[in-house]
Amino acid sequence: MADVIIVGGGVAGCSTAWYLAADGADVLLLERGDLNAMASGANAGSLHAQIQQEPYTQRGESWVREFLPALPFYRYTIDLWEQAAARLGPELEFAREGGIIVAFSDAQMRHVESKAAIEQAAGLGTELLDREALRRIAPYIADAAVGGARCPLEGKANPLHAAPLFAAAARAQGADVRCDCEVTGISRAHGVYTVHTNSGAFRAPCVVDAAGIDVGRVAAMVGGRLVIRAYAIQLSVTEPVEPLVKHLVYATEDMLTLKQTCAGTVLIGGGWPARIDTRGRPQVRAESLSRNLALAMRVVPALADLLVVRTWAAAVNGTDSWLPILGELPGSPGFFINYVPWMGFTGGPGGGRIVASLVGGKPPPVDFNLDAFCPGAQ
Ligand SMILES: Cc1cc2nc3c(=O)[nH]c(=O)nc-3n(C[C@H](O)[C@H](O)[C@H](O)COP(=O)(O)OP(=O)(O)OC[C@H]3O[C@@H](n4cnc5c(N)ncnc54)[C@H](O)[C@@H]3O)c2cc1C
Repeated sequence: MADVIIVGGGVAGCSTAWYLAADGADVLLLERGDLNAMASGANAGSLHAQIQQEPYTQRGESWVREFLPALPFYRYTIDLWEQAAARLGPELEFAREGGIIVAFSDAQMRHVESKAAIEQAAGLGTELLDREALRRIAPYIADAAVGGARCPLEGKANPLHAAPLFAAAARAQGADVRCDCEVTGISRAHGVYTVHTNSGAFRAPCVVDAAGIDVGRVAAMVGGRLVIRAYAIQLSVTEPVEPLVKHLVYATEDMLTLKQTCAGTVLIGGGWPARIDTRGRPQVRAESLSRNLALAMRVVPALADLLVVRTWAAAVNGTDSWLPILGELPGSPGFFINYVPWMGFTGGPGGGRIVASLVGGKPPPVDFNLDAFCPGAQ
């Protein structure tokens, strides 16, 4: 019998496995397909700390008030990315050059200022940039930009490498990580969970549900009810070029994130909607592609000379509040949720460290309140 069974081999499950194994727990991770085959391996690799532009614009101050408890979590998780990079090596491709949001009009700049004021009050260190300051630190941004703001906490890592590196580190600490092992049911008797799979049954006193968009389906196996959402969104990547874009870049105008990877390619996204085909698979939406690329070229004109070599769609896990769900499921002792919506790549190490501590019965090593993240609090 293991000490803990983790369901899901994305960044949430693999980082939890690593922290738990490092704490000395006997860990069994069950993944229904391959490790990193879902959102964790298909995302843009942005490490976000600032308030995201789209919900801020769409839903305003009332949403921000609800989301505020998450700001220290994102600061914490990026610090853990930095620590993980020191342990796991350069293959993680972690870098923290800061994130820049760009404004093209005075009205957009007022918007940047109001968002930056909330971030400054929350200790994110966001600095406003006038036209000259923006030119100086980011000469690749279009001349038409009137200014912006820089959040120094933000950065990037390689989503193709991260979860597999966490899993390898967990294995090196003794964790048993199994693929092609789908969890089909969970029962509990005498304080022990029996996890039924297509490859037999496994027992442990604790279970961590890190099943991404299927977190609610797995929680329902023990009678839990989580209100979560899945959306298909898309991303593009260019051919590799010489160093061009130093920061993680956003635009006030519409949805955009772009960054240059260590390989020199530029990843262009921002959450543009994809479509679901008749077989239920996420597929690229042409209108989103053209609008996403047009905005990217408006912000970084040099991108117009680059070939886009691939565009893909994948499902992202969300919630209405955007708050992480981390902790023990009410009514199911020993059953824990690790679910970070929308920005779950960023949240990988933070969610993993917090849930690993809770599973071990120890207070998580954080200096902020986790009450808003408790399953059932949202
Ligand atoms: C296109 C795109 C771009 C994104 N960009 C960013 C970004 O730049 N920055 C950021 O922070 N976030 C980003 N995200 C979001 C981020 O990728 C996700 O929030 C994060 O990867 C979720 O990780 P996870 O481990 O919880 O879920 P997943 O990666 O989905 O992993 C869950 C795993 O559980 C397994 N599983 C499910 N059910 C079972 C079962 N019954 N038995 C066994 N295994 C099961 C699945 O097969 C899967 O491998 C993006 C998402 C998308 C789609």
